[in-house]
Amino acid sequence: MASIEITNARKSYGAVDVLHGINLDIRDGEFIVLVGPSGCGKSTLLRMIAGLEEITSGDISIGGTVVNDLQPKDRDIAMVFQSYALYPHMSVAENMSYALNLRKTAKEKVASAIENVAGILGLNALLERRPKALSGGQRQRVAMGRAIVRQPQAFLFDEPLSNLDARLREQMRTEIRKLHRRLGATSVYVTHDQIEAMTMADRIVAMYDGIVQQVGSPLEIYDRPANIFVASFIGSPAMNFLEGTYQTDATDTNATNAAITLEDGTIIPVLSSAQAMSGQKITLGARPEHIDIVEDGSSPSVTATVELIEPMGLSTLVHVTLAGKPVKIFTLARPDLAIGGTVQIAFNMDKTHIFDRESELRLPPASEPVSAQKA
Ligand code: ADP
Ligand code: MG
Repeated sequence: MASIEITNARKSYGAVDVLHGINLDIRDGEFIVLVGPSGCGKSTLLRMIAGLEEITSGDISIGGTVVNDLQPKDRDIAMVFQSYALYPHMSVAENMSYALNLRKTAKEKVASAIENVAGILGLNALLERRPKALSGGQRQRVAMGRAIVRQPQAFLFDEPLSNLDARLREQMRTEIRKLHRRLGATSVYVTHDQIEAMTMADRIVAMYDGIVQQVGSPLEIYDRPANIFVASFIGSPAMNFLEGTYQTDATDTNATNAAITLEDGTIIPVLSSAQAMSGQKITLGARPEHIDIVEDGSSPSVTATVELIEPMGLSTLVHVTLAGKPVKIFTLARPDLAIGGTVQIAFNMDKTHIFDRESELRLPPASEPVSAQKA
């Protein structure tokens, strides 16, 4: 096992810059998830760690050794891809032992490694089968088994669950996490799926446009997103955003000493934000679970129009329009609302976010400890 350090790593294809100087310290034994939309450079970065892609500039070291010029086979890492890339003419056992046999590992050692790993992954009964006689989930497990038997210093995963159906994806997510608990091997896991990132990561690395936007634990990133991109990408249903102007003198409610005036004049009271100035153009961010449907006449609340109600069993998603903008509200209640009618809604002031509209950075409230790690 090993730590991985990435220092000012850049990647260009000809004149096109794809990664713009990535800095990242991955601790020994940590499970890191690189998450971001398609095309943001996740696979490129992973392939640079693996040695499958040249580094344009900067350094990557594994276990304290700079590996920039090392061949993939000399980096002692194992990669698991979305396409399982199993050899179709080999059995499960042969697929898993292939790398060990190449290294001329002693027969008994190979046999015991296969038995051990097959036990961990529940593949004992399938060892003689060919890949085509396996389900997608079983093939994915063989691909992982093949990586594990090598006992590499680190595992790299590139969207390994994307080909599986939703239920199996959920199961494999849990299995991979349990496996990580057991093996404790440094892992870098790439996905575009924010739920995989939230549920699997020790730390999430949120990427956009070849730049690391934020690094932090799942809940740090969820509760204190560094900017509008991270706030909008992490969380489902997604955060609501409303553009307005921050004012420190627009309200006389006791609960607050500041407010946001939306474009149509609607006023939303908020807690004061040390870093926003009166008159500053901002974007208000509120997660659907941080807006409540309240009784008529409660204060402070604002009036919205009900557009759509989506019952999901456990919860209900209510779509409303506020100041001409769509807003989603998540509630565990089953509200009895008329489509087209009005509803009073209240923003949970402790939980709403204020972003500077120009820089798109979050402006943390004065009460917040300075801990959110910047990229
Ligand atoms: P992700 O894995 O996040 O979807 P990639 O790392 O695959 O993104 O790609 C990042 C960017 O690099 C994309 O814009 C892609 O088009 C570009 N890219 C990837 N490989 C090449 C290549 N061989 N030549 C030119 N551009 C490439
Ligand atoms: Mg990719």
